Amino acid sequence: MPIQPLLDAATAAANLADIRPPFSPQEARVEANRCLFCYDAPCIKACPTGIDIPTFIRKITTDNLTGAARTILEANVLGASCARVCPTQVLCEGACVMLDLEKQPIQIGRLQRHATDHVAARGIDVLQPPGPKNGHSVAVLGAGPAGLGCAAELARLGYAVTVYDKKPAGGGLNTYGIAYYKMRPEVSLDEVRMIERLGVTFRYGVDVRRDLTAADLQRDHHAVFVGIGLGGANRLGIPGEDLPEVVDALEFIEWIHTRPLADVPVGRRVAVLGCGNTAIDAVTQAKRLGAEEATIVYRRGAAEMSAYAFEYELAKTDGAAFLFDAAPVEVLAQDGHVAALRLAKTASHDGRVAIVPGSEWTIPCDLVLKAVGQEKQAGLLTRLFPGLNLDARGRVEHDPATMQTSLPAVFVGGDAASGGREVVNAVAEGTKAARGIHALLAGDSVRGPVQPSRLGMPDGATGSGFDQPIRVHELEAALKRG
Ligand SMILES: Cc1cc2nc3c(=O)[nH]c(=O)nc-3n(C[C@H](O)[C@H](O)[C@H](O)COP(=O)(O)OP(=O)(O)OC[C@H]3O[C@@H](n4cnc5c(N)ncnc54)[C@H](O)[C@@H]3O)c2cc1C
Ligand code: SF4
Repeated sequence: MPIQPLLDAATAAANLADIRPPFSPQEARVEANRCLFCYDAPCIKACPTGIDIPTFIRKITTDNLTGAARTILEANVLGASCARVCPTQVLCEGACVMLDLEKQPIQIGRLQRHATDHVAARGIDVLQPPGPKNGHSVAVLGAGPAGLGCAAELARLGYAVTVYDKKPAGGGLNTYGIAYYKMRPEVSLDEVRMIERLGVTFRYGVDVRRDLTAADLQRDHHAVFVGIGLGGANRLGIPGEDLPEVVDALEFIEWIHTRPLADVPVGRRVAVLGCGNTAIDAVTQAKRLGAEEATIVYRRGAAEMSAYAFEYELAKTDGAAFLFDAAPVEVLAQDGHVAALRLAKTASHDGRVAIVPGSEWTIPCDLVLKAVGQEKQAGLLTRLFPGLNLDARGRVEHDPATMQTSLPAVFVGGDAASGGREVVNAVAEGTKAARGIHALLAGDSVRGPVQPSRLGMPDGATGSGFDQPIRVHELEAALKRG
């Protein structure tokens, strides 16, 4: 049977309501007053955009919410969305000294939301309007967090910026891919409008694969920033994959962002393949949209999944089931629609996963969501920019200090450079690339709070301190080096 929406509008909205609701003014003041305003605040060092957290929190204690928002947005133009979507547990809040005192860390994300909501709700533009243009023009490919970070910084430095995106609206995954209970698309679209008011031009419906050539870009612009993120879901390569109810998890999440909630179809029995954060978001939202059963199928063990522990706990609380050490071998159909998933047990030897012969079994399901990683856009990039160097994993090679690629006038940032991190990393890298472009075109350097340490450090830096959030080894080393 084709899948259908399962819930009425009110129930769906209640189930997908904001997971971290806003503070009341009183709650915000009380929380802000708990901050110790540390001199050498580790929370700042743990933020890839280097927001001066104690300063903005202190402004909240005196009800200077516009000033607090200015402190935030000058460092991170997407401060409103990062307040909602950042894994703060492993970033700023994970580094808060309160943890050393065995107390709850300061709720930095919610305080940041309190300040940025204040200016957004009142239409207050805290960022300086750009001065006279400096005569240089830059193309930004992709209106996701990386492209927006780059475009906003360049606009504030006096550049004429044109952002090209294939979608009908900007924001990238912030608008179309973040779990609905973390952030509504309107917050992201509001940020895009704020960047428009800085004088940035957005051209939507332009697919750079189809509609632009290197000659067009060279003719119209002095430099290019590549922020096109990743491509579609990797293929499974199993029979039945092309049935109508085998869907890319990202596409399913996009339905939630682009349709009325009561019109989003979902299976009664959903299987989600993969166990990263996208899989967790998909299984949780499927449950919240009324799926009776939603099961993660992962070919390795629980200890090896890449999802954060707190996301895993959320999915379990929502009633999701987990099948570890299992791999899909075939999607089975009835009357042309998904009816079941054939699985096999797996075993790992030397890090390689193999199917255990004779171990197959079948589970009933009517929707299969693929969350087994996204493709890199390597073909597109090398066609558009002959001579652009990619690494063995299809990521664009770049200088981590400037985000400059092997082509001097082409810069990169966000998921296209990293292979997939977080929104805050993308906006920080976009900002850093804007400064790299400024150094190239104007010979000028910009001092600013973007952290040198967590972004693209050689020697295997993870970029977000996922596993060791507090004073991670590469951060320590970078700080020692000064
Ligand atoms: C399901 C999911 C959930 C996530 N949840 C979180 C979260 O809760 N918190 C968090 O911090 N991070 C989260 N992330 C990660 C985060 O969304 C990304 O790291 C971030 O969006 C990367 O930004 P980006 O600008 O590099 O790429 P994107 O956000 O992917 O933006 C790329 C832009 O380029 C455009 N584009 C692509 N190809 C073309 C083309 N050919 N022509 C023109 N335009 C093109 C796209 O339309 C898009 O607008 C999540 C990721 C996924 C997939
Ligand atoms: S580490 Fe915690 S207590 Fe110290 S300044 Fe940052 S938020 Fe405040």
